[in-house]
Amino acid sequence: MDSSDISDDLTTVLYTREQIAARLAEIAAEIDRDYKDKFPLLVGVLNGAIMVVADLSRALSIHCEMDWMAVSSYGSGTQTSGVVRILKDLSVDLAGRHVLVVEDIIDTGLTLTYLMQNLASRDPASLKIMTMFRKPDAFKGDLEIAYVGFDLPNQFVVGYGLDYAGRYRNLTDVGILAPHVYS
Ligand code: 5GP
Repeated sequence: MDSSDISDDLTTVLYTREQIAARLAEIAAEIDRDYKDKFPLLVGVLNGAIMVVADLSRALSIHCEMDWMAVSSYGSGTQTSGVVRILKDLSVDLAGRHVLVVEDIIDTGLTLTYLMQNLASRDPASLKIMTMFRKPDAFKGDLEIAYVGFDLPNQFVVGYGLDYAGRYRNLTDVGILAPHVYS
């Protein structure tokens, strides 16, 4: 699905499929250099990071392994508490591995802060973060993010893995959801 299929549902297209692919190619070139001969493990956080992991891994020229985690955040309504329940853990042992956590979007960063503490306790050789999107105004955490695709405005966006009520994850572009969709 591209934005022309649901053009009434978006107020603005922020990034097209082509812009996302071009940015991912740049990041992949950095990761190729930084992880040469390190056989990194890409850890995707389900469900949103599926598209990023699929495209980033294929843009790499080096070997990588992939594994997945699913987490749910305790909290009321739209407030994230920062306490995370692991719904699906990794299959791969992290000890001695070069781990790159791949995220779709970092908003408050609370969920990821908890996750990083958990992963760090498993003795990886290195542990870094790549996120496709970041909302800098909202970011409250104390996380160092090694690779960032694009910074976003503080608005609710959908597409490229990001959903609203289970929809729009398969939208190839990323855009701001029109208020009439959720009001
Ligand atoms: P936080 O960084 O606040 O702990 O949580 C990040 C999570 O909030 C993301 O993984 C994503 O599920 C959700 N999120 C934050 N901003 C947006 C947005 O603009 N659109 C969508 N679809 N999800 C968002």
